[in-house]
Amino acid sequence: MTIAGLLRHGRPTLSYELFPPRTPAAEETLRATMRVLADTRPDFMSITYGASGTTRSTSRGVVQMLAEAHTIPPLAHLTCVDQSRDELVTVIEEYLAEGVLDFLALRGDPPRGATDWSPHPDGLHYASQLVGLVHEVARAHGVSDICVGVAAFPATHAMPRWRQSSIDVLRYKQHAGAAFAITQVFYEVEQYTALVEDAAAQGITMPIIPEVMPIVSSRRAARASELTGVPTPAELVNALEAAESDDAARAAGVAHAARLSRELLEAGAPGIHVITFNQSAAALELVDAMGLAAR
Ligand code: FAD
Repeated sequence: MTIAGLLRHGRPTLSYELFPPRTPAAEETLRATMRVLADTRPDFMSITYGASGTTRSTSRGVVQMLAEAHTIPPLAHLTCVDQSRDELVTVIEEYLAEGVLDFLALRGDPPRGATDWSPHPDGLHYASQLVGLVHEVARAHGVSDICVGVAAFPATHAMPRWRQSSIDVLRYKQHAGAAFAITQVFYEVEQYTALVEDAAAQGITMPIIPEVMPIVSSRRAARASELTGVPTPAELVNALEAAESDDAARAAGVAHAARLSRELLEAGAPGIHVITFNQSAAALELVDAMGLAAR
């Protein structure tokens, strides 16, 4: 069953985000993390897609590993960065040949070292075009039961000058065939409910799954806000800085993420997508705190 099918069941989904490892030691950690997280019976796990050719092929390896070793549906991230349309077609064909049914179509972050995003000369400009391309390639290969998700941005939507364009972009994505969205990280439930309500009022019916990040150190808090542009709440940064051990910092980060997750589920979120940084401890503690494990 695709993710869109799972979301129609009405029970909150549980899912995790993993990233492709860069070293053999990191690959071992990832394998161990996958084994532990698999025991919580997640509905799917997503695998991010990097800008370099090497990380991209590692992403494909992780997707295969998930499907083969754990029978957990993989959600394969895809981006438009630094790839021609033809190269993207090949990647999509390879995933389809491996039986992948769920894709997250993104424009992608600029490659490391670049500040601005610029499209490949023969490539795609926007995530909505990639949504269309995935459907086009699947149709050409007679695969009908695929599902394409996209990104949504509650914290950006909270800024008045971006409010309408964030909904317009979601509309383009839905129009191109997106069946669900996963949000960027954010810390206020009201930002999520405002996005969902404004989207619904303008005809956007796809379920929007919130992404939750248990932040386990002040270093990670700084890195997360640098990468996403979403400031970590001061109260969380203070708690992380005041913690006297790694365990105490992790407990503070998990407690914060668990509170937000509970508020999101109470507000009707269709599931929780947990960022793991390829580590299981904080993710497991969060899932336990929410009572979502092995449902
Ligand atoms: P788009 O929807 O293409 O939007 C990009 C910009 O173009 C926005 O400013 C938008 O307003 C504008 N725009 C869009 N459509 C149009 C249009 N038709 N006309 C004019 N302007 C338009 N990055 C990675 O590199 N790899 C990953 O694996 C990855 N995973 C992610 C997972 C999630 C859940 C999220 C939220 C983000 C992820 N990202 C990843 C980051 C993401 O690629 C960036 O945030 C990127 O800057 C925006 O992606 P998008 O898919 O929303 O792009």
